[in-house]
Amino acid sequence: AKGAGRNRFSYFTPTLQVAALNRMRLTNDLRGALKGEQFELYFQPIVHLASGAIHKAEALIRWNHPQRGVVSPLEFIPLAEASGLIVDIGAWVFRESARWVQLWRHEVYADFQVSLNQSPLEFQREGASYAEWLAHLRALALPGQSLVVEITEGLLLDASSAVSDRLLQLRDAGIQVALDDFGTGYSSLSYLKKFDIDYLKIDRSFTRNLAPDSSDMALSEAIIVMAHKLDLKVIAEGVETPEQRALLAAAGCDYGQGYLFAKPMPVAQFDRFLRDNGYP
Ligand code: C2E
Ligand code: CA
Ligand code: CA
Ligand code: CA
Repeated sequence: AKGAGRNRFSYFTPTLQVAALNRMRLTNDLRGALKGEQFELYFQPIVHLASGAIHKAEALIRWNHPQRGVVSPLEFIPLAEASGLIVDIGAWVFRESARWVQLWRHEVYADFQVSLNQSPLEFQREGASYAEWLAHLRALALPGQSLVVEITEGLLLDASSAVSDRLLQLRDAGIQVALDDFGTGYSSLSYLKKFDIDYLKIDRSFTRNLAPDSSDMALSEAIIVMAHKLDLKVIAEGVETPEQRALLAAAGCDYGQGYLFAKPMPVAQFDRFLRDNGYP
């Protein structure tokens, strides 16, 4: 009982108070961030390992906070989820992604694809539908295949029909689906068969420790073989060294993403990158 009392008081230690206050302030600032045009979408190339071609990119949000500078999505996405602001932020990410993929499909590669992240909260939201997305894509004369939605594997454990309904809606619209951070969560393989998924993204924690004959190498190889049997393409995250790239390519991994190729970049810089590296 004495221990519990101590724990209760430790809740009020100054550092935790500061952290809680910080979160409250950031959440408050987040409310004005959309109107203030403080969000920016960065793009990171996804490289086809066998050919080096770059026909895909992941959209990653940044918050240019007027006082704090760039705030990481790792810090503000949880606050956006807790406050419900994630819905409006997600709508903004979608419209920006559509805008830029339209440009790049017109001017660089006709089959260019932008991958965007959806938090579980957005994905499972009551009454959520892709009707607005579809109308917007149609207005821009963009096919569904212009976009890939990245979700995390935990979602597939949701036994309710909401998740499978949403996945079917995406399928009907021609929008592809990627399973993000694969290998870090529950990784129930039976779900890969049950749901229609197009890409599997091997989490950075596997890529990091790749070495010949390492256990992460064996795991990555097994994931790649299994994914291909199920007709999924594999994207390795966090490729930082030529060795990692070579090992992944030798294991038959389809795509790589990471600092070896490029860090996430602002639109203007990514546009230049795409055109410079571009060959038809
Ligand atoms: P994620 O979806 O797993 O995105 C990959 C993260 O790895 C990105 O961090 C990217 O900058 C980073 N990364 C890429 N290559 C490398 C590498 O070679 N080495 C290392 N160490 N890191 C690499 P970022 O941009 O900070 O995003 C963090 C997370 O925030 C994302 O993880 C995603 O879960 C979330 N997020 C980002 N943008 C959005 C968004 O628009 N909506 C939602 N709901 N979540 C987002
Ligand atoms: Ca992602
Ligand atoms: Ca990821
Ligand atoms: Ca991750």
